[in-house]
Amino acid sequence: MSAASQVLYRKWRSGAFRDLVGQDHVTHTLRRAVAEGKISHAYLFTGPRGTGKTSSARILAKALNCLNPSDGEPDEICSNCVAVTEGRNLDVIEIDAASNNGIDNIRDLRDKVQFTPGTGQYKVYIIDEVHMLSGPAFNALLKTLEEPPQHAIFVMATTESDKVPATIISRCQRYDFRRIANQDVVDRLKHVADAEGFTCEEDALQVIARVAWGSLRDALNLLEQIAISYQGNVTAEAAQELLGLGDTGASIKLAEALLSRNAAAGLATVNEQAAAGRDLKALQSSTIETLRAALLIKTGVDDALSHPAEVVEAMREATKSVDLDQVLRSLSAISETKFRDDSSSPLPLELAVARAVSAPRVAAAPAPVAPPAAASTRQPARPPAPRPTQSQQAPPRQAPATPAAPATQQQPAASYSAPPAETSPAPPARPKTPSDDRWDQVIRALNRTKGKKFVLGPLMRGASSHEVVGDELILQFTHNSNAERMAEELGDPRGRIAVEDAVEAAFGVKLGVKAQHGATDSSGDGGTPKATDSPLVRAAMAMGARIIEDSNADTSQ
Ligand SMILES: [Zn+2]
Repeated sequence: MSAASQVLYRKWRSGAFRDLVGQDHVTHTLRRAVAEGKISHAYLFTGPRGTGKTSSARILAKALNCLNPSDGEPDEICSNCVAVTEGRNLDVIEIDAASNNGIDNIRDLRDKVQFTPGTGQYKVYIIDEVHMLSGPAFNALLKTLEEPPQHAIFVMATTESDKVPATIISRCQRYDFRRIANQDVVDRLKHVADAEGFTCEEDALQVIARVAWGSLRDALNLLEQIAISYQGNVTAEAAQELLGLGDTGASIKLAEALLSRNAAAGLATVNEQAAAGRDLKALQSSTIETLRAALLIKTGVDDALSHPAEVVEAMREATKSVDLDQVLRSLSAISETKFRDDSSSPLPLELAVARAVSAPRVAAAPAPVAPPAAASTRQPARPPAPRPTQSQQAPPRQAPATPAAPATQQQPAASYSAPPAETSPAPPARPKTPSDDRWDQVIRALNRTKGKKFVLGPLMRGASSHEVVGDELILQFTHNSNAERMAEELGDPRGRIAVEDAVEAAFGVKLGVKAQHGATDSSGDGGTPKATDSPLVRAAMAMGARIIEDSNADTSQ
């Protein structure tokens, strides 16, 4: 079944209006229009990527030319429908305006639009990414839209309708496609996964839906990517690993600690994760997401929450006895955390914990309270209010330490002086290629490096073999879509440099990296020298010094 080179999204593209996910308001109207023969000569489909605009345009084209339509739906089996599905219906012309944006392309269109359709009743022009057309091209298109031949229908799709000239928009029937609700995406993923024979965890599908952010195309691509990289086992862990997301349990724990100003618990969580070799950047981003849930709950807009139930529940509980200021303080402390080149040092997150639990005046985060001096002159009766709480919560001398858990005091101190080197404990790699230490090292080095879309290590683990040919490292992928994705990542300068650096560090020579499957390839050149550890150490020391200053300032109150 699942053909190797067929991308799931293409395979599972909706064939009829009734199959379209999450756009009932659009499909209902279009169906009625077709059924009643109220056809416009120009349509504008706007909305976020992956929400079904181009699919709808094709369905409309099918419905208009179908030999046996019923109630505005194409039958999907007549010769006209099948030809559209297979992309060989000469009456349906698709133009990608991103790559054909010039006036010549539109002139060509204008010349050909005069010819009557072949097998169908209409000639349907689908112009994707129409906002990319040049000014002259838009003008030429406008002339055609002003006097379209009876048999011509234009369906223009765009993610950026504000870049489409008003003169064009005014000639179109406009349909706004919405982001697809998470549950609709999950349901569709489940359907596809079952049919493809993947084993799936519900949580994994939730993670994918959340990351895809309303784009079914992105969601299906991610599902496919995970299924390929993890041999059809779509687990939440696999999804989190591939997408560079942290473990939900850890992020809940950290968020709870920040909200309750429990420094010991916060530091313990950070250090447990660091010791387990977890990606601390991922912990940061998932904690931000978790605290975002807390913020939405606290401000009463949790209807819009698309977070996992366990996160919502935990944050609902955690925010009960916490004021909005503390939610904001926690969120800004953690989101302002900046990792240097290496995310293995727990220090930045430890500082975030310290900032979140320390008093507003001391915190590096923008203080929600006005300068205390000014405040106290205006309201002489009340100034001490916030302070006693601070000094109870943040003990003198060393912010991280609380009497509750003395053991955790030692850990951060140790890691200040010796941030773990990249070579030390790393998560086990699962190489599929003949065991090769250098290759393992490359994968390990990239296990936490996010490329344009994917974390590079897990993506590269999907390579069936690797081989040095001349001055290039050739990665062979069994699945074409894997090869395409790797090539795409290598096409992005950041991803390419990260991969080449990791390869250079492991193989000891500078090599270009290529991803291959059949004809697919992508070239790379050059690389940059790898950063040494010393600036990191120095940065860590510098940041370490600041925490003492902060707590000193606190104590001096
Ligand atoms: Zn048909």
